[in-house]
Amino acid sequence: MKAIIIGAGIGGMCTAIALRRCGIESDVFEAVKEMKPVGAAISVWPNGVKCLNYLGMKEELRAIGGPMDFMAYKDFRSADTLTQFSLDPLVQHSGERPYPVVRAELQAMLLDNFGRERVQFGKRVSRVNQNSDGVTAFFDDGSEAHGDLLIACDGTHSVVRQSVLGYCTERRYAGYVNWNGLVEIDPSLAPANQWTTFVGEGKRVSLMPVAGNRFYFFFDVPLPKGLPEDRSSLRDDLTRYFAGWASPVQQLIARLDPETTNRVEIHDIEPFSPLVKGRVALLGDAAHSTTPDIGQGGCAAMEDAVVLAMTLQSNSLGIEDALLRYQNKRAGRVKDLVLKARKRCDVTHAKDAATTAEWYAGLKQENGERIIGGMCETIQGGPLA
Ligand code: FAD
Repeated sequence: MKAIIIGAGIGGMCTAIALRRCGIESDVFEAVKEMKPVGAAISVWPNGVKCLNYLGMKEELRAIGGPMDFMAYKDFRSADTLTQFSLDPLVQHSGERPYPVVRAELQAMLLDNFGRERVQFGKRVSRVNQNSDGVTAFFDDGSEAHGDLLIACDGTHSVVRQSVLGYCTERRYAGYVNWNGLVEIDPSLAPANQWTTFVGEGKRVSLMPVAGNRFYFFFDVPLPKGLPEDRSSLRDDLTRYFAGWASPVQQLIARLDPETTNRVEIHDIEPFSPLVKGRVALLGDAAHSTTPDIGQGGCAAMEDAVVLAMTLQSNSLGIEDALLRYQNKRAGRVKDLVLKARKRCDVTHAKDAATTAEWYAGLKQENGERIIGGMCETIQGGPLA
């Protein structure tokens, strides 16, 4: 059996590694000539960590993961602590630590594990065609590739999605802009082993430790889509949006490098099905595009890859049947994740001011139990729980 994998992001590389693990050969085609991950870092939660462990990258992940032992919310103006607690109960409950990681380092880890030389770069798929014998991918350089099945891991703007669904999906603007980047750790910004988030005015500023003495930081601001803002105005924009915020936030704005800070208008896609058609399956953001509000998009792609490989490995009724079983196992899970993230997004970003005010007030009563309980519930839905 030979699989064609379209896209060499988190989803594509985890799929290639997972299929190899169960003896299925795959050819990976990636549109860009050189991988430059959009976004500075991501948090890999225990459900994702378990998938990477299963795929044989336990030690490598530990080496690039940040020491995130505590979590805290702080008032935006005074920097008073609203709540602070250990993440140890999460680790005890789920059996793994969460690892914030620099995206480029995660991507390099995945590529090295599979074999960078085995990925065909500069190959942009324009369409796919299937019949009872197999699948053909057509590339915009005029070449084509054939396989027994095709896994479309071509991200949120997937070109393969429409051929599976039979219609075109619309991306939905979630109502806020996210800026993210990396800075050197300094205790005057936040403790080095804590995920610290300043909240107020429907905005947030967050710092998470990654390896190499760096914080992954992000700023969220509810804003209209399509503002004429870029790197040249970045520091001024953040200074304006966060006027009156506490000293660590001002220091962060002063220290960040606009050249390496990303500005992203956050979108998701209404959950859809089917996720497969015949010998073609969607995986990762191609199958479910979520806002990053519960940090689960990449983790869900890792889960998809593990489940797909497991269903193909135990396949006795043919490829199409195995893909249907993959779809049945994943559709409910990924729909839940997208909708849960959307709900969190609305509360965090003051879609309804009263609900958000209630959330801020609730943080002062929080001892970690409720927040960790919510995280555990999300993590437990994964395939290796
Ligand atoms: P992508 O990473 O988009 O990869 C798709 C690949 O396919 C790309 O390399 C692209 O070049 C290639 N491609 C596209 N079109 C074609 C084509 N036609 N032919 C060939 N190749 C093609 N997730 C988490 O788990 N935790 C987090 O903390 C987290 N934080 C996030 C923060 C932000 C601000 C954002 C925006 C997202 C965050 N996510 C997080 C989500 C996560 O980044 C995505 O879910 C994940 O990257 C999806 O991986 P993917 O491989 O499906 O898609």
